[in-house]
Amino acid sequence: MLLRTLYFEGPTSRHELSGLTGLSAASVSNVTGDLITDNVIVEAGLVESDGGRPRVLLRVNPEFGYAIGVDVGETHVRVELFDLDMNERAKAEYPLRPARHDVDLIVRHILSGIDAVLADSGVDPARVLGVGIGVPGIVENGPEALIHAQTFGWDAVPLGALVRAGTSLPLYIDNGAKTMGQAELWFGAGRGTRHTIVALIGSGVGASIVNDGITYRGANSSAGEWGHTKITMGGRACRCGGHGCLEAYIGAESILERAGLSTAEISDEQTVLADLVRSGGPVIDETADYLGAGLANLINLFNPERIVIGGWAGLLLGQHHLTRIRRSAAGNSLAQPYETASIVLGRLGPDAVALGAATLVVEDFLMAKAVPPGQRSAAV
Ligand SMILES: [Zn+2]
Repeated sequence: MLLRTLYFEGPTSRHELSGLTGLSAASVSNVTGDLITDNVIVEAGLVESDGGRPRVLLRVNPEFGYAIGVDVGETHVRVELFDLDMNERAKAEYPLRPARHDVDLIVRHILSGIDAVLADSGVDPARVLGVGIGVPGIVENGPEALIHAQTFGWDAVPLGALVRAGTSLPLYIDNGAKTMGQAELWFGAGRGTRHTIVALIGSGVGASIVNDGITYRGANSSAGEWGHTKITMGGRACRCGGHGCLEAYIGAESILERAGLSTAEISDEQTVLADLVRSGGPVIDETADYLGAGLANLINLFNPERIVIGGWAGLLLGQHHLTRIRRSAAGNSLAQPYETASIVLGRLGPDAVALGAATLVVEDFLMAKAVPPGQRSAAV
């Protein structure tokens, strides 16, 4: 509890920690003493107190351990190494050609990236708490972490076992929308909220649903496949094989296709879509309306206090058409839950999947489940 409080509150005195956690001054003193001895937390200067002696501030030692985050995206594999303050210490990126999502190639990129960021940062692998991997599709947790990503042509791919063959670091695998959601919740536009939905709109469309501070997963971790909820009966064909999915209207390629542009002939989708969104027109208006209706469905189902729009295409749409998106959300949701739900843009930019994946590692550390550096060999 003390470690989590120090991590999220930043530098805090023992006196404040006692107030924030409800623990007695003696307990705070004992536990922080042990954490300082173990170098998990460190002193971070002094703060004046009313009339008394200045109080010592404590903080989590950013160099106690490190976390690696991996973003397996449609167009790249990106690997980043962070300290516990989530400062990026090293980064490696491997472009993927569209429709070239060969599992072996992606596993090789992940393993090369881990080696590259360790070499570039000079961080001792023994101090790395783990590797978080954000992937598209549904992640069925279990010993092998099976990935079902229809758009990648992955059917029950045992990604965990394949990566495990090349590294002894602890692995954490989750859907990219969920990892990005956790990044926005911890460090971005969702900070300070407990009932939050992060809507991720890129080529694919997904959502991370946080209920009372915890990501909602469902029976097999597939919850949040918002992009494949139906927005119209018998509508446009979707990459999942269905028809009328939200993704078939607001996913990046779907928008371009609806505007009459051939995605096969476009080399830089992001620039073309940015121009299209900026200049507006009937297709973009309709896209904003569909997005708003999709958000309204989330509002009616989950009663969130905040919805964060993220993902590169979502940020583009939100930057230029937020008023229309909100109007459509209002028009399609019940008045009472709409009134209490704010719709805002993500703050971490479109590239927060790797950061979010690294938070999977840090989350385990804060729950005191991660193996402390130096004791790894005893635990494996
Ligand atoms: Zn679909």
